[in-house]
Amino acid sequence: MQEKILAALKSSKADYTEIRLEERESTTVAYRGKNLETASAVIDAGGIVRCLCKDGGWGIATFNDRDNLIAKVEQAYQCAQVAHNDEPIELAPVPVREERIAASLQRDFRDISLADKKALIEGYNQILLKHSDKIISTSSAYSDSFSRITFANSEGTFIEEERPMVAVFTSAIARDGDNVQTAYETRSGQFGFEFVMGQEDKARTAAQRAVDLLRAESVVGGQYPVIVNQELAGVFIHEAFGHLSEADFVYENPKAREMMVLGRRFGQDILNVYDDGALPGLRGTHKYDDEGMPTGRAYLIKNGILVGRLHSRQTAAKMGEQPTGNARAISYRFPPIVRMTNTAIEQGTTCFEDMIKDIKLGVYACGAYGGQTELENFSFSSAYAYMIRDGKIAEMVKDVILAGNLFTTLLNIDAIGDDFQWMHRGGGCGKGAQYPLPVTFGAPHIRIQNVVIGGKK
Ligand SMILES: [Zn+2]
Repeated sequence: MQEKILAALKSSKADYTEIRLEERESTTVAYRGKNLETASAVIDAGGIVRCLCKDGGWGIATFNDRDNLIAKVEQAYQCAQVAHNDEPIELAPVPVREERIAASLQRDFRDISLADKKALIEGYNQILLKHSDKIISTSSAYSDSFSRITFANSEGTFIEEERPMVAVFTSAIARDGDNVQTAYETRSGQFGFEFVMGQEDKARTAAQRAVDLLRAESVVGGQYPVIVNQELAGVFIHEAFGHLSEADFVYENPKAREMMVLGRRFGQDILNVYDDGALPGLRGTHKYDDEGMPTGRAYLIKNGILVGRLHSRQTAAKMGEQPTGNARAISYRFPPIVRMTNTAIEQGTTCFEDMIKDIKLGVYACGAYGGQTELENFSFSSAYAYMIRDGKIAEMVKDVILAGNLFTTLLNIDAIGDDFQWMHRGGGCGKGAQYPLPVTFGAPHIRIQNVVIGGKK
């Protein structure tokens, strides 16, 4: 195959050409309530050629049959010639690399039978169903995928990378009259089958939380000091801040360009935020991005100051900055665009007891049910929460929605915990038509002053 790829690249008349081929094997087993909803094994294969003509633009050809790559290159070249761009497209230089990266899995999930995968997730699903007579339905899923990506470009880079992924998802729906509550737990990473075994406690936690939420009162809306747990802090930094750091968005959006000025103060000195696509096992990790650029750590906020953003080769050249290894595509059907990998608020020094002890009345917000962001304004629903009374965690509350302005909120972070965690949770990030892209986020507990909490009361 390597010879065919090199011959096709050599045949190209474009200024720059790249070929990315992918083979993906995946299995899924899913339950809804007592019923097995899906049990599937899928093999998907295809490729994409991207050509750049300096006086035209990008041209793309995607395909499933990987024969006759020369014809695919010609197709992409013709598209690139007729494309039009107002300004010439440049690509920032990246190192030329030749490397093969093999995944090493403790218990390779490709060697596990579908029956054993079914037994695992059925076991977790049974725990949810039997936990309480208040549980009226469940949703449980096991999934794995193993991709082999071959990337080569006309500059001489040739990379083969194996990308494994395994995940379990357990969710319980509890009901009491017309009060219906949901809770979920997930676990996912670039590991073998062992990573999702022995997760009975997670299923129990999800089931118990759904039942507990039935008894929780709605939070009384108002302004509170809030402690945010690792999961919600991670979702917050990804959704409310991370997407604004994606350079294509910054470049194309004049309002974002005004906001995201390097050197601007975003938080207190204690706040450090980075994206790192090179950390072993995390969902957003690849040694190389989908333009063949090595991934690594890109600081976005350092000591409270905006110091960087996330780039593809094209956005880096446009803005006169360095590529960061953040050009990613969800599959061979799409060109790479600027995406996060593993995004984190760096560990701080405050222990949880010190963070909570002076709060007379506040909220401890945990987990996330997603939310909305519109430039600097955001709102997030926490999955569950507790009141903080006289320095202690008190009763559970529900319907906790945190809303605010990103800049004020980041400046109001006045304590960062010493209990950093990567969230090994499933799900993915969406941008344009490309969803779900595996990402991870991490954070310690953080304390934010004066958060507006919307509740039902
Ligand atoms: Zn996202």
